[in-house]
Amino acid sequence: MDQARPPACAGVTRFAPSPTGLLHLGHAHSAAVGFLAARRAGGRFLLRIEDIDAGRCRPDFTTAILADLAWLGLSWEEPVRRQSEHGDDYRAALARLEALGLLYPCFCTRKDIAAEIDGAGAAPHGPDGRAYPGTCRRLSPAERAARMAAGQPYALRLDMTAALLCSGPLWWHDAAAGRVAADPAPFGDVVLARKDTPTSYHLAVTVDDALQGVTLVTRGADLFAATHVHRLLQALLDLPVPAYAHHRLLTDAAGKRFAKRDRSLTLAALRAAGHSPAEVRRMAGIDA
Ligand code: GLU
Repeated sequence: MDQARPPACAGVTRFAPSPTGLLHLGHAHSAAVGFLAARRAGGRFLLRIEDIDAGRCRPDFTTAILADLAWLGLSWEEPVRRQSEHGDDYRAALARLEALGLLYPCFCTRKDIAAEIDGAGAAPHGPDGRAYPGTCRRLSPAERAARMAAGQPYALRLDMTAALLCSGPLWWHDAAAGRVAADPAPFGDVVLARKDTPTSYHLAVTVDDALQGVTLVTRGADLFAATHVHRLLQALLDLPVPAYAHHRLLTDAAGKRFAKRDRSLTLAALRAAGHSPAEVRRMAGIDA
């Protein structure tokens, strides 16, 4: 089968915000792209709250996100999936990768990693910054066991070289870029389970899109590169491959991307300032 061919039914889309702040115009644009794509296809629009980061996510932001999206005029299928409630799904995926021999525990702190990279002089730059130098990949089984027995916290990393040997060449289909050859190698040994959480962004998104039956992933162009990793995980976990549509990022008058810190452009602030949902949809570049 041609892996890069868009699925016949591109009718299930989703919006997947992280409740670490209030939604701004950029989020409104992103949510509407997914909503309208589903509506045009006579399909389904899903919502997922990406709240695995217990330190940064807040339930009141989740409440505000749901209220803002409804105010904007969007509707979604229930139930809303909350990632914090689905640890077992991520653990099952990790067990599968573990059985393939593709994971290893990483005991490094950020400081250890920075010191190792600085000591080595140069480290390849990946899309997420400097790639992990592989320190813990080289630990002996006895050393790993000893550190675990001593209760040292660890993350789980993907052995990228081994994973690529396992998967072979991969492709995905992007609405703007067309057939894209997956090239996750520059990310290096990505973290798939963090020290404090039984998953990571890359793993949770990939597993959830499959479990929710998403057939078209619509999201901002800032996440285009991450799709290289997601495509690899789909192959390793034997998951269906959705089509992708990475949309442009909205910018302010000065050409700067909207960020959660731009308080005046949150949907809540615009609503409080008296703007109607139709006006805000227009500001967010949404053409229904
Ligand atoms: N939760 C991610 C964010 O808020 C988006 C994940 C995705 O769409 O794949 O940036």
